[in-house]
Amino acid sequence: MPRTDFGPPHYMEMLPPVIKRNYGRWKYHEILRPGVLKHVAESGEEIYSIRVGSPRLVSTDFIREVCDLADKYCDGYVRFTSRHNIEFLVTNKENIEPLIQEVRAKGWPVGGTGNCLSNMVHTQGWIHCHTPATDASGIVKAVMDELYEYFVEEKLPAKLRISLACCLNMCGAVHCSDIAILGVHRTPPRVDHELLAKVSEIPTVVASCPTGAIRPNPKLKSVEVNEERCMYCGNCFTMSPAMQIMDPENDGVSIWVGGKVSNARTAPMFSRLAIPYLPNNPPRWPEVVQAVKKLVEVWATHARKGERMGEWIERIGWETFFKLADIPFTDKHIDDFIFSVPTFRTTTQFRW
Ligand code: SF4
Ligand code: SF4
Repeated sequence: MPRTDFGPPHYMEMLPPVIKRNYGRWKYHEILRPGVLKHVAESGEEIYSIRVGSPRLVSTDFIREVCDLADKYCDGYVRFTSRHNIEFLVTNKENIEPLIQEVRAKGWPVGGTGNCLSNMVHTQGWIHCHTPATDASGIVKAVMDELYEYFVEEKLPAKLRISLACCLNMCGAVHCSDIAILGVHRTPPRVDHELLAKVSEIPTVVASCPTGAIRPNPKLKSVEVNEERCMYCGNCFTMSPAMQIMDPENDGVSIWVGGKVSNARTAPMFSRLAIPYLPNNPPRWPEVVQAVKKLVEVWATHARKGERMGEWIERIGWETFFKLADIPFTDKHIDDFIFSVPTFRTTTQFRW
């Protein structure tokens, strides 16, 4: 296998032998129970994936424990999904039960498949990035703790995908998730003219603004912000530490609903704004947790079997959704529901 001096090794090197032998010739898969997937190849060979939730921010000790289990039951083969689930890849059927028992004994949940809530995809938050309006793993932990039952039991109408991005740059999949938690800044950047003149190139800072809100201020050898045009995205702060956007009093969280990537049954959908603002309230974010829980419960109570959140909302109409979810429709929703997407009020299909 050719190797370069950067990047990960080629993925083929990492595949379990059974997958290599049957590469591109898999016939079907089924979910035996929450967290246990069976894949069958045309040759008749099988592989089982045991899906386990992880808190994502993990210690080296945790990873060593995972690897020890993989050595014991999976010939060393284990993977992390893009939603930070661990998947133990088991070829010997006899190993499934003892593995699950050991996993549960450690307090790790088995589930996340089929009509379950899978682990949340999320971004870096306060621990890593410099532009977040909220934390990532902190909220995710609090939300997943509250929704634990939906990870380990298949009792939802359809699969549920929740995501979190800690600012509008949106490194997470918030644009297309059943429920999306999105950090929002709500005040324009505060320019530190002295610092900007020392550390930033003015044309770069001006060019960083997607709405053209920044213009040069030659007198100060700095820039100024037209606040009317600012959408608080924080992109300028990414370019210059002199454009401070963090605002502990006003930063917070918005909630979006109804997106999906899947093309099954209906076309993919973008998430739409449901709740414009909830406060940052660490360490357990009770307002956000309750809002997400309520959305899950309302959907689970009213949707038909197989209906994703967005499909259910499209069927009942957004007005009914807002009423059932007890969410006020405010002026903050208008752009999203009237102008930005031609499939809503601008067509006769819009139901309100
Ligand atoms: Fe950083 Fe924004 Fe990405 Fe969060 S979403 S990791 S704040 S760029
Ligand atoms: Fe422009 Fe975004 Fe900076 Fe506002 S926060 S000035 S919109 S780059």
